[in-house]
Amino acid sequence: MTQLIWLRRDLRVSDNTALSAAMAAGPTIALFLLTPGQWRIHDDAPCKVDFWLRNLAELATELRRLNVPLLIRHADDWQTVPAALRQVCHEHAVRAVHFNDDYGVDEQRRDHAVSDALRQDGIITQRYLDRLLFAPGTLLTQSGGYFKVFGQFRKSCLARLQLSLPRCLPPLAPQAPLDIASDPLPTAVPSFAAPASTLQALWPAGEAHAYQRLTVFVDEALDDYQQRRDLPAEPGTSQLSPYLAAGVISIRQCLHAALAGNRGELDSGSSGAVAWINELLWREFYTHILVGYPRVSMHRAFRAETEALPWRHAPDDLAAWQEGRTGLPIIDAAMRQLRETGWMHNRLRMITAMFLSKNLLIDWREGERWFMRQLIDGDLAANNGGWQWSASTGTDAVPYFRLFNPISQSQRFDPEGRFLRHWLPELQGLSRRDIHNPSALGGLFAPVNYPTPIVDLGESRARVLAAFRDLPQVQ
Ligand code: FAD
Repeated sequence: MTQLIWLRRDLRVSDNTALSAAMAAGPTIALFLLTPGQWRIHDDAPCKVDFWLRNLAELATELRRLNVPLLIRHADDWQTVPAALRQVCHEHAVRAVHFNDDYGVDEQRRDHAVSDALRQDGIITQRYLDRLLFAPGTLLTQSGGYFKVFGQFRKSCLARLQLSLPRCLPPLAPQAPLDIASDPLPTAVPSFAAPASTLQALWPAGEAHAYQRLTVFVDEALDDYQQRRDLPAEPGTSQLSPYLAAGVISIRQCLHAALAGNRGELDSGSSGAVAWINELLWREFYTHILVGYPRVSMHRAFRAETEALPWRHAPDDLAAWQEGRTGLPIIDAAMRQLRETGWMHNRLRMITAMFLSKNLLIDWREGERWFMRQLIDGDLAANNGGWQWSASTGTDAVPYFRLFNPISQSQRFDPEGRFLRHWLPELQGLSRRDIHNPSALGGLFAPVNYPTPIVDLGESRARVLAAFRDLPQVQ
């Protein structure tokens, strides 16, 4: 009875729930669908698509070791996915299709359509919890709703984890070889340009690399994570987000590595480990929010009353933000980091997102889209959650009156200006005091090839506070 594992955002063989279940059930073949039309609709970044393809090549090697043939098929958008799966199942007499759950409205519609279509052919579909520690809907408030407050959600997660930890699966043994050839692997997808080799080099593909990155982080940086996680010039965070987003490493592998580095303690012991596990739970939280409140998956604000904010149509300001020429060094350096590396430090994501949505009063959806089009770790739940947090339109978001001042954030988190100097060579010669706010030098002393700020921080702060105060029902 041939089994099919349909790989999506789980590009690994180790600790892959659907793959292990398929191989336990019978001779298994694997499938990956190229769906560039859908990727365009979802604003997936070219560097992210390239990362998927590079990981697919590594995965093909791992699957070959297990004697699992890998088929690659094209189904431009997700409307055509059920037909593509039916075709593959028909060609290879597949009796059961296994896949790990994916979240988001479009993903869930796609998966239901596939199950419905295959059922007509007598083929069963099996779905598994793999991307998260807890299935959405299994952690609820006492009144039976989804948590809206992270602190309460976290408490509930920790209580469940104290009772039982989800285990990593044992390594897979090769199956008997099948008489089915793997398909050639694509190295590029039309309309998704390959990124620069310097960007590729920052994010090597493959689960062996991801696991090594995790191990090095736990051995060398986990204990200091709490102290260093907000300093963009330091390698203080794991930089595992692209690997978690594409499923090149599992959330269980991350959790167990953190526990191993903290003598098995979840919520005590090293403050670094506790803080890092907390971040893994933010990832979990935002995905549960996506499922519990599907409007956020459809570009609606979590807090409906904020839809009335008077967003500015300001294409020149938006372009200056996107291109890193706002005249505020920390914003410009962060936006250049994003463009050059496909990644941005978390502290800077918050600062740049708040600057766009608050100081520039530009709709957070513009920023969400731009990030998604650039990020190698772009993930609907985390990106939407981060944007709505920063714009104060989301669940458990920052209060609207707690605006970050980009200059004082820069002084606090990059005190020597090391991050600024790296990304803004034109400010190279400025002292650690002046580099955060070169326009304050005035006239003759201001750097010649660096713009003056596109917005006055004080006035724009007052403007957004007034806009929020004018909203109905907002305190
Ligand atoms: P670490 O600090 O090492 O954290 C470990 C892992 O926990 C991360 O890899 C990530 O999977 C998860 N994580 C950490 N912080 C968060 C968080 N606040 N929310 C959800 N998950 C988190 N993260 C993405 O993975 N994809 C996105 O598209 C994304 N967009 C964001 C947009 C904005 C405006 C903001 C404020 C945050 C966004 N984040 C996103 C969250 C966070 O910035 C990144 O996960 C983090 O910077 C990745 O770096 P790291 O792997 O070194 O993180």
